[in-house]
Amino acid sequence: MTHVIREPADFRPACDKARAAGHRVGLVPTMGALHAGHLSLIEEAKRRADFVVVTIFVNPLQFAEGEDLDRYPRTMQSDLARCRQLGVDLVFAPDPEAMYPAGFETLVSLKETTRPLEGVFRPTHFDGVTTVVTKLFNLTGPCVAVFGRKDYQQWKILSRLARDLDMPINVVGSPIIREDDGIALSSRNRYLSPAERQRALAIVTGLRAAFDAWETGERNPGVLRETVAASVNERFDRVDYVAAVDPDTLGPVDGPSDRLLLAVAAHLGTTRLIDNVVLGEDPRP
Ligand code: AMP
Repeated sequence: MTHVIREPADFRPACDKARAAGHRVGLVPTMGALHAGHLSLIEEAKRRADFVVVTIFVNPLQFAEGEDLDRYPRTMQSDLARCRQLGVDLVFAPDPEAMYPAGFETLVSLKETTRPLEGVFRPTHFDGVTTVVTKLFNLTGPCVAVFGRKDYQQWKILSRLARDLDMPINVVGSPIIREDDGIALSSRNRYLSPAERQRALAIVTGLRAAFDAWETGERNPGVLRETVAASVNERFDRVDYVAAVDPDTLGPVDGPSDRLLLAVAAHLGTTRLIDNVVLGEDPRP
């Protein structure tokens, strides 16, 4: 039976009780509108823990003015049904007022890993993410927490956060789940018109071309980046970045290396999509 908790004050004792009963707690933070990408994180958590907690919270702190907070899909009933089907033990779905009561003023902020890529275009986003995830980690207590590599930079930042602050959390990054045609699953895909959905394929087409070039020996980061950019620039309305960076530092690579992160963020109409591949590590997207 999936138990649903809405109050932070009730969530912590529920996790403590599970640990006291000898369970290892697995945490999967989400903003809901669950799709197969989220479900893969839940499956990963089930492999690594025997008491699985899913949090569903559209975190206002990580949306800037003018972003899609108001129209972000909220599908609580079907999300709960999916959690039940998968045998999730506990769902924590708090209201914003419960997470950020009057007087709330603390921000958790990282200095370096938050700066490049997404940080350039969404400068306040990661402070919202790290703050809410710190709260979720503190409420949950010791656990294995599973995040998607679809948000590659977010996964790196949260790994750093747990290490830097000595949190007793094992932060795991789970592979990107894609549609049959290769598009990365995202709650935001539902904003796309059928025509935009077709054009959205340009990201994975570009990532595949770069992957194939890598497989045949191309190691020049500039050339690989340009391969992706050519595809995305042609079909997208606006491109925030196409980057070829070090998968660990997210900083520039000087010269050839044996792993390379290619990361993309681009807009189709009012929808912003992100995707990535780590060449030398990930399978063909
Ligand atoms: P969100 O609900 O969009 O905040 O995402 C919650 C978690 O699911 C994050 O750790 C995401 O990285 C992960 N996620 C979202 N889409 C995918 C996907 N297509 N494959 C794997 N993980 C994903």
